[in-house]
Amino acid sequence: MANAQANIGVIGMAVMGSNLARNLASREGNTVAIYNRSPEKTRAVVAEFPEAGFVASESIEEFAASLSKPRTAIIMVKAGAGTDAVINQLTEVFEPGDIIVDGGNALFTDTIRREKAVRETGINFVGAGISGGEEGALKGPSIMPGGSAEAWETLGPILKSIAAVAEGEPCVTHVGTDGAGHFVKMIHNGIEYADMQLIAEAYDLIRRGTGKSPAEIADIFTEWNKGELESYLIEITAEVLRQVDATTGQPLVDVIVDQAGAKGTGAWTVQTALDLGIPVSGIAEAVFARSLSSKPDQRQAAAHLPGPSTQWTVDDADAFVEDVRQALYASKIIAYSQGFDEIVAGAEQYNWDIKKGDIAKIWRGGCIIRAQFLNRITEAYDQDPGLVALVTAPYFTDAVSRTQDAWRRVVVAAAQAGIPSPAFASSLSYYDGLRADRLPAALIQGQRDFFGAHTYRRVDAEGTFHTLWSGDR
Ligand code: NAP
Repeated sequence: MANAQANIGVIGMAVMGSNLARNLASREGNTVAIYNRSPEKTRAVVAEFPEAGFVASESIEEFAASLSKPRTAIIMVKAGAGTDAVINQLTEVFEPGDIIVDGGNALFTDTIRREKAVRETGINFVGAGISGGEEGALKGPSIMPGGSAEAWETLGPILKSIAAVAEGEPCVTHVGTDGAGHFVKMIHNGIEYADMQLIAEAYDLIRRGTGKSPAEIADIFTEWNKGELESYLIEITAEVLRQVDATTGQPLVDVIVDQAGAKGTGAWTVQTALDLGIPVSGIAEAVFARSLSSKPDQRQAAAHLPGPSTQWTVDDADAFVEDVRQALYASKIIAYSQGFDEIVAGAEQYNWDIKKGDIAKIWRGGCIIRAQFLNRITEAYDQDPGLVALVTAPYFTDAVSRTQDAWRRVVVAAAQAGIPSPAFASSLSYYDGLRADRLPAALIQGQRDFFGAHTYRRVDAEGTFHTLWSGDR
């Protein structure tokens, strides 16, 4: 094998890495080096995609030698120990000025740690969130790179060339330093959990409320996809609901076991939000709903518990469907508002200069939560970069004003019918909490001061106060 033929390399030839390598190879001027721990996978990729002209290596030394300097390698391996193993190998064979990109789903605190350690060797380390699944990796993902500004200078043009394009703009931007990219990717996934749960609740309410079939509900989602809810997730929901099982002839959704899996990025979003003190209740309910679904023993044991004693009926199916659509839209606004609150808090905590409007822009294409709606978020942050809560921007205020009555009717109907709607209900509760003139938090402060002398502040005087609550205390 001749040396230094490739201008970029990819490590990890599972589905994401091989597709990203093919995407890179399809762009003018690129020659792509590839490497995988198990060489048979590398050989299989070379054999399957000869048109890509890959420069394949079977050792990390050979891989490094096949790259022109400064070397750039994108790691697409199993996140965690696999990533650390590959970074350790690369730092042995790379030189100062080279760039290591981790495109896996790393926890952002791991990325902060890795960036610091790799930087000490003089090599640049960039943690880049990549969203869009295998199709995105091949055809154009949304890319959220962190790392240094210098690394972005070299890496930017190549990432722009492979990213999805939305309204003429590549779906990639330098998010911020060290772990900022993986942090924002984590929030993307948290919002994705909320979006999916809200859509699932909408489907359940319509199905149980109106008796419509999955195929009929698929048509409703297709219709919704022409309006303000237009998004990839609404589009694929219609396709999932329309799918018929080849074996039984049943709607496939009725044959699939109703226990939702998770790979952990939603939980990370919630854990981080708890640490940052940010109420991402919609995202949290979405994560918990998946956990509840995956407890078959508890669900079976509880199956006999009573539901509502009166029968709930929908008088006007069309009106109910429209109410659910509006409730979905309002709840979605809350999920995004909460997700962006977490981005703001993370940026503050970790000193990242994150441009919220740019994040919404790069989520418009390639990624799982891609939606028309993201343009409105960009506009909101462009108009007011210091916006304290997305839901208070004029466009979103108008949207919730329009939809809140329907939202309330749906949450009431769900409670009366005994249909779980944790994301709808918690989003509405959050909204009412946010806009409340007075919250019962005053009472909690009183309780805290009572049992723990934690003190409280008064509405009519500066300072902190403690009350001697009863004679014997
Ligand atoms: P994966 O199943 O997560 O990982 C398999 C790859 O990791 C194989 O190439 C494997 O090599 C390699 N690997 C595992 N442990 C290793 C180690 N200790 N040393 C060296 N290599 C090791 O693959 P994937 O689904 O393509 O995902 C790749 C990355 O992209 C992951 O971080 C994933 O979270 C992220 N991601 C995935 C998606 C998606 O939709 N799948 C979307 C966005 C991001 P061997 O062949 O030798 O076992």
